[in-house]
Amino acid sequence: MKYNSTRDNSVAVTSAEAIVKGLSAEGGLYIPESVPAVSIETIEEMADMSYNDRAKKILGLFLTDFKAAEVEDCVTKAYTKNKFGTNSIAPVYKLDKNRYILELWHGPTCAFKDMALQILPHLLTTSVKKTGMDREIVILVATSGDTGKAALEGFKDVEGTKIIVFYPESGVSGIQKLQMCTQEGNNVFVSAVNGNFDDAQTGVKSIFTDKEYAAELDAKGISLSSANSINWGRLAPQIVYYFSAYCDMLKGEEIKAGEQVNICVPTGNFGNILAAYYAKLMGLPVKTLICASNSNNVLTDFINTGVYDRNREFFTTISPSMDILISSNLERLLYLLSGRNDGEISSYMEELKAAGKYTVSDDIFAKVRENFRAGFADDDKCRETIRRVQDEFGYVIDPHTSVAVAVHEEYAAASGDGTKTIIASTASPFKFNGDVLTALLGREEVEDKDEFELLRILAERYELTVPPSLGELEDKDVRFETVCDKTMMKAVVNEFLE
Ligand SMILES: *Cc1c(COP(=O)(O)O)cnc(C)c1O
Repeated sequence: MKYNSTRDNSVAVTSAEAIVKGLSAEGGLYIPESVPAVSIETIEEMADMSYNDRAKKILGLFLTDFKAAEVEDCVTKAYTKNKFGTNSIAPVYKLDKNRYILELWHGPTCAFKDMALQILPHLLTTSVKKTGMDREIVILVATSGDTGKAALEGFKDVEGTKIIVFYPESGVSGIQKLQMCTQEGNNVFVSAVNGNFDDAQTGVKSIFTDKEYAAELDAKGISLSSANSINWGRLAPQIVYYFSAYCDMLKGEEIKAGEQVNICVPTGNFGNILAAYYAKLMGLPVKTLICASNSNNVLTDFINTGVYDRNREFFTTISPSMDILISSNLERLLYLLSGRNDGEISSYMEELKAAGKYTVSDDIFAKVRENFRAGFADDDKCRETIRRVQDEFGYVIDPHTSVAVAVHEEYAAASGDGTKTIIASTASPFKFNGDVLTALLGREEVEDKDEFELLRILAERYELTVPPSLGELEDKDVRFETVCDKTMMKAVVNEFLE
C-alpha cells in the first residue's frame, strides 16, 4: 500500500518513507491510498488475542512494506507489562451499563501519548533502515507538557537516535517539569526556554527550516525529525486500541458481534478521534463518533456548522492538552470525506493560512454529520463532572477524560441515544493531581501542598495507587537545569550533538 499526500494525489511513497519524512514536501499529510477492511469474523478472532497480537494484525494492514517480523519486533519492544503495568496495555473499565472507559494512560508517562510514542521510535528506526538511509536521527520537540515527556521515554536509549526537548520555563505543570528534568537515558537532553510555548515552538521550527544548518548536519550523517502528531507512525498505533476495546467488550460478553457502539474522544489535534474514524471505516461497528472539546471549542463549531474558524479567543484551561485552535489532523478527515479531492483540501488549507477560516462544501458537511457529533465542557462543568463521577461510581477521572464524560452525557440526554459508548480516557488523574483534588475537595485542600503531598492525598482518600513513575520522581536526581534564551536554542542543540 502506498501513501498519498492530502494536498497532492500524485505523491506515492511507502509507509517507511511516510514515517521518515513525517510531512509531505508541499505541506500535505501522508494518508494511505486505501482503507484496509477488517471483517466481523476477524474481529471475533481478535477477541481471543493479546493486545500485542491485535496490534500486529492492525498495524500490518497499514505497514505493508514492513516484514511481519519487523512489525512484531516494534510491537514487542513497545507494549510490555514492564512499561504499562498491565498485560492488557489499554484496559476497558465499565462505568455503568452503557459507558465503557478506555484507559489509555497506563504507559510510562501516565498519558495517552505513550500509546503512540512508545512504538514510534521503533517504527522510525526500522523505517530508516528500510529506506536505506544510514543516518542518526535527532528528534527535536517543543512541548507544552505531555508530548515532550512521552517522546523522551519513547526515544531514550533507542539506538541510532538522540532527542532534545524544549519546554517553556513558565508553562508546564510541576509534575511535568519534574518528569522532564529527571529524564534518564544517554541520548536525551532537556532544556527550558525563557518564554511561552509559542516561543519554544517558533524556535524549533526555525531550526527545522534552516537549510544551511540541515546541510551542515547532513554532512555529519545526521537528520532532524520531529515525532510530531501528524506523523502517520503516530496515528496508526492509535487505531489499534479501538479495535482492542471492542474485542474486550466482545470477550466480556458486554456486546454481541456486530453490535454498534459509539466512541467519545476528548480532542485537541484531532489525532485520537481520527484514529477512531479509521477504525469505523475499516469495519469496526461504530455508529456515532462524539468529539469533545473544552472552552477552545473550534471543533464543536465546525462539526455543528461546517465552518472552521480559528479567529477566536484562546483559553488556558485545566485540560491543557486540548488547548489548541488548529487541529492539524482534521485535514486527513476532510480529504477522506471529499472523496480524496487534493485540490479542494489545498484550497481549504490556504484559506486557513490566509484568513484563519474556511467553510467546507455541503457534501463534506453532510458526511461530517453522518459520522460525528460534538460538544464542549468548560472548566466548571469539567470539575463538577469529576466530582459527580467520583461520588456516583467511586472512579476518579482526570480533567481531559471528564470533558469527554460531560459531553457524552449531554449528547445522550439530548439525543436519547443509549448506544453503548467507549469513552477514551487520555490521562491518569495523578498527572493532574492539583486540578483533580481541587474538583473533589475544594481549593483550600490543595493550596500550599507540593506535588508529592497531592499524589499521596489522591491515593489515600480514594484508595488508589500512585503510579510508580510519578511517585519515584521524588527521589530522582535532576539531570537537566539548562534554561536558554529563545535565540540560543540552536546553540543548545549544537552543544548537545558535540
Ligand atoms: C494530546 C492529548 C489529548 C488530545 O489528543 P489529540 O489526538 O490531539 O486530539 C487529549 N488528552 C490528553 C491527556 C492528551 O495528552
